[in-house]
Amino acid sequence: MAACQVQGCKFEVPAALNDSALCVHHYLVWLDGNCAAMRRETAAGATTERHDQIASFVREHGERLSHVATGGYRLSDEVKARVLNEFLSLMNLRENLERSMERAAKARPAP
Ligand SMILES: [Zn+2]
Repeated sequence: MAACQVQGCKFEVPAALNDSALCVHHYLVWLDGNCAAMRRETAAGATTERHDQIASFVREHGERLSHVATGGYRLSDEVKARVLNEFLSLMNLRENLERSMERAAKARPAP
């Protein structure tokens, strides 16, 4: 198992997070920061291209997170709670994204 890519972190990267090269803790921190940034971005209005990118981000990391959650790793109750919280963040981000696209569609003048 490889070590987490965050400098000074000695935790190992679980197989489910090989693509991210982060330990569970730093992956959750990273994901939380990204979700928050993208939520702000969708609130300001996103382009169709960006909408698709954010939608695939939500799909990809929802899947990756489910592998962390159900992959048989020994997670503390605190980490389990943080995993659930990140699922909620991803779901809310997806919801905000749809709302923002609906708003943009309504704001567009009729042809
Ligand atoms: Zn780490």
